[in-house]
Amino acid sequence: MSDVDFSALDAAGLNLQAVFDLAALPAAMREVLDPGGRYRQLILFGHGGRTLWQRVQAAGLQSEHPIDDFCIATVEAWFAAELPGCAHSLVYPGDAPVGLQALGRLAGWHHESPFRVGINAEWGSWFAYRVLLLADSALAPTPPLRGESPCVACTDQPCVAACPAGALAEREFSLAKCIAYRRQPDSRCRVTCVARTRCPVRPEHRYDDDQIAHSYSRSLAMIERWGG
Ligand code: SF4
Ligand code: SF4
Repeated sequence: MSDVDFSALDAAGLNLQAVFDLAALPAAMREVLDPGGRYRQLILFGHGGRTLWQRVQAAGLQSEHPIDDFCIATVEAWFAAELPGCAHSLVYPGDAPVGLQALGRLAGWHHESPFRVGINAEWGSWFAYRVLLLADSALAPTPPLRGESPCVACTDQPCVAACPAGALAEREFSLAKCIAYRRQPDSRCRVTCVARTRCPVRPEHRYDDDQIAHSYSRSLAMIERWGG
């Protein structure tokens, strides 16, 4: 099977792709992803920067989860064009049995940031995981994205001081402080993360305010549903 053209995905804003050979993944991860040994590869699709949101807006989807729906349709169309007849199975969106950040670490996309969202030198914190597929493909595995965490050289850590809840003040991120603050009616973090927006890395990729609000209003809705 020859290599494929990822440019249609790039144009749609799904501009991060990582192909893994299942055989090269940690055994525990492989077992939960593909217990029957049915597939050869795992393909992770993500977006970096603003393009995906623009494409989703242009598509005008009237659904509950327009980003997910757009991404699944885009990946399925790409797969059908580039790998016709190749068996595959959608793992995410859905109840992915593995942590996406763990895969992001293997792909070189994810380094820890004080505010819990992953960060890398190419995109700052302005990237996300979108689709994960098992596939019976034989593509060239993707070398990990290179570069160390931008946080290593960030001595001032403006994100830490910016968090109005003090959730980053200790060595470990305090999810409890973050959630308690976000739920307050006058919170500055109901539809954003003030700390994240203060990070100076790759500001050219920062999401538009309406994309940030879309993403954080969804996480707040989940917090409020769980919190009663
Ligand atoms: S402000 Fe500095 S420490 Fe905080 S996420 Fe950005 S690079 Fe890392
Ligand atoms: S969402 Fe707000 S409270 Fe939570 S870590 Fe970000 S800045 Fe702090």
